Amino acid sequence: MEKVDICIVGSGPSGIATAAALVKLRPSWRDHLVILERAEHPRHKLCGGGLTPWADVLLRELDLTAPVPDVSVGKVQLYLSDRPLEFDSPGMLRTIRRNEFDAALAAGLRQKGVRLLENTPVQNLIEERDGIHVKTAAETFLAKIVVGADGAKSLVRRTFFPEASSRVSRLIEILVPAANGLAREFERRTAVIDFRPIRNGLQGYVWDFPCLCSGAPHLNIGVFDSRVLADEQAPRAHLPDILQRHLEARGWDISVDLMGHPERWFHPQDVYSRPRVLLVGDAAGVEPWLGEGISMALAYGPIAASAILTALEGGDFSFHDYRQRILSQQLGKILRRNRLVARLFYMRKLFPMLPLFSDILHAYLNHRVKRGIRHNGGGGRKQ
Ligand SMILES: Cc1cc2nc3c(=O)[nH]c(=O)nc-3n(C[C@H](O)[C@H](O)[C@H](O)COP(=O)(O)OP(=O)(O)OC[C@H]3O[C@@H](n4cnc5c(N)ncnc54)[C@H](O)[C@@H]3O)c2cc1C
Repeated sequence: MEKVDICIVGSGPSGIATAAALVKLRPSWRDHLVILERAEHPRHKLCGGGLTPWADVLLRELDLTAPVPDVSVGKVQLYLSDRPLEFDSPGMLRTIRRNEFDAALAAGLRQKGVRLLENTPVQNLIEERDGIHVKTAAETFLAKIVVGADGAKSLVRRTFFPEASSRVSRLIEILVPAANGLAREFERRTAVIDFRPIRNGLQGYVWDFPCLCSGAPHLNIGVFDSRVLADEQAPRAHLPDILQRHLEARGWDISVDLMGHPERWFHPQDVYSRPRVLLVGDAAGVEPWLGEGISMALAYGPIAASAILTALEGGDFSFHDYRQRILSQQLGKILRRNRLVARLFYMRKLFPMLPLFSDILHAYLNHRVKRGIRHNGGGGRKQ
């Protein structure tokens, strides 16, 4: 059995950000931590790949780069009613493909000397007096601290954090080559965000994002159902029907495989730590308004790292203040605010009033555009 101080389960953005933040705090820790990853990079991850400027700010702070192809979205078209709200969005949104993005982050982490073991699924975790036994097919690690960065279906969460209420959002997605009739859509570099299916019980929106897959223009089209107002009795919106209606309304006859994956959302009163164990990223929870999870996952890293620093230096592995640490940072403020926004926004009976708030929304989005330009100098590499 190999002894390690810190064992991170999962090498998506949250696991990588936690490791990078740890190494930034104490470079020597690279020799005392291991990341165990079920898959092998570049691995498939269902995702719209929409990145806001905050993600780039966080990457810079973590000394990480992901020089991968991206598409800079030039316009956003929002549907709060049948009359779309369209505005320029320079620097506010770019799209990447997660297989490339996460692989680039993982390679950057390895360059810092961090040990990342791929094709190493964690099979179970057992708490013993001397630490947590983390079992994989090949060997068992004895860790002082385990970080659950293993996504929305987290094994670490299921093992140590029995759940009272569901905090799970549902998402489906298709990836369509932007050829022939759809090529113009890609060329417009416009992201469509359509909230109108709230009328049909969706607590979310439908998106169309232009993106590049292996260099070829594509449209990433999906449906996000936050379930932030989840009442187990309330009927769930039928996501494939909503997607089909969206495609028909746009005049697209598309037949490709539909893929689905959950997201988990953060509730300020839930439990995110216990002695020797912390959750980050989707394993903990992201924001349920727009489902922007990549930047949230990155933002968990430095918070988890500073909690680990305190634990290792003080010998107190209780992590009793971890949730408070999250809530006191910008991440916690966004998680809390966006949960409240989502609860109002997705109330079906309020939907007819949403267009009245379009000026406020417009001002908010313009503010984000300006902040994006300031932080980012105008967004990612344009294609
Ligand atoms: C359809 C869809 C569209 C989305 N679109 C966007 C978007 O446009 N913009 C945005 O910001 N967010 C989006 N998100 C959310 C975003 O994808 C997640 O919030 C983000 O990936 C969370 O990162 P993470 O590191 O916490 O988890 P993940 O990225 O899920 O990484 C978890 C890692 O853990 C590994 N793992 C799992 N189990 C084990 C195990 N037992 N042992 C070892 N390793 C394990 C997995 O292989 C994986 O590499 C979308 C999500 C979905 C489902």
